[in-house]
Amino acid sequence: MKNVIEQKAFSMADELCKIRRELHKIPEIEFDTFKTSAFIKNKLDEYEIPYETVMETGIVAQINGKCEGKSVLLRADIDALPINEDSGVEFASEHAGMMHACGHDIHAACLLGAARILYDMRDELRGTVKCVFQPAEEGNGGALPMIEKGIMENPHVDGAFALHAEPLEEVGNIQIKDGSVMASPDDFEIVIKGVGGHGAVPEKCVNPVTAGAMIIDAYKNIDIKSNNPYVVTICTFNAGTCRNVVPDTAVLTGTARSLDNETRFALRDRLIELAETTAQKIGASAEFRFNQLFPPVVNDGNMNKIVVGSAKKLESVKKVVTLEKASMTGDDFSYFSERVPGAYFKLGVGNKAIGACYPLHSPKFKADERALPIGSAVLAQAAVDFLNE
Ligand SMILES: [Zn+2]
Ligand SMILES: [Zn+2]
Repeated sequence: MKNVIEQKAFSMADELCKIRRELHKIPEIEFDTFKTSAFIKNKLDEYEIPYETVMETGIVAQINGKCEGKSVLLRADIDALPINEDSGVEFASEHAGMMHACGHDIHAACLLGAARILYDMRDELRGTVKCVFQPAEEGNGGALPMIEKGIMENPHVDGAFALHAEPLEEVGNIQIKDGSVMASPDDFEIVIKGVGGHGAVPEKCVNPVTAGAMIIDAYKNIDIKSNNPYVVTICTFNAGTCRNVVPDTAVLTGTARSLDNETRFALRDRLIELAETTAQKIGASAEFRFNQLFPPVVNDGNMNKIVVGSAKKLESVKKVVTLEKASMTGDDFSYFSERVPGAYFKLGVGNKAIGACYPLHSPKFKADERALPIGSAVLAQAAVDFLNE
């Protein structure tokens, strides 16, 4: 027997599917999610749920329960990626060069569903639910500026949940992991300065290309003491304009990812040290610019327990899969879960039979939409269980 929350979620299945498809047609990038935000606000108006606009395209819908209590935040990111869709679905992107390939259309639909369920239940609800629709998860991050606008205060938020679509997990399943779940996706640039000159007389030059190659080599064997995995990848190496001229400068860029802040900053310091000392070996200099992005996402044990308990109350959730390994990708949900206990879990949207088996960020990304009411139900149930705890 489905409980009340699950029944409400499944009665909205067609509506959620329509919402997801409408959003899928109008993907927008970074903070410029104007049509997306307008669509979400229209839905909130239709459901008569009050909301506030934060920073033009962010939205916070607040549901006040009849009794006083704690406050919980549910977050959906709503932005898309700058890639051309190649999924073949009939509701494909109408915006050239943009696509919901990370499933944020699914997140927005699931949260609209959860908001409606919780609003319907507000007379039995103890405490407050803040439903946050956040732009700019990909790229520069919309979570932090929204938090800086005060969305975690008045009332003060006590805990936060978010889900992410996972096409490599079967629809009906939920994935969760204790501790670190996602990495800090920091990146860096190294500007190497040498002395240019004629390629025929390298002994009169300090070749920054050589220094760059030496730094890449040194980074391969980087060794930080950590209980968690980390990764350093050089992704661009630019230098020179001509085959027989040694350039003055070379520029390397790359990404440095770790799963806890201690490793993260130890890694940063070691990268700086290695770049400088390695370049110096041949008389070059290296200027290291670290671009600190989102912190790692670290799940709280108790919040995870709530998600698992909530999922088990729902008959549409077939399996709760405990993940062993964290992902080295990032998510700016970490700004919420760094401030209050949080749980970030994955919603299976995979189904090989309908071609929903491509990874996130693939132009062929597809999802089994039967996951939508499940996502709404888990979010709503987790919110209720947290508030009643
Ligand atoms: Zn993504
Ligand atoms: Zn994403």
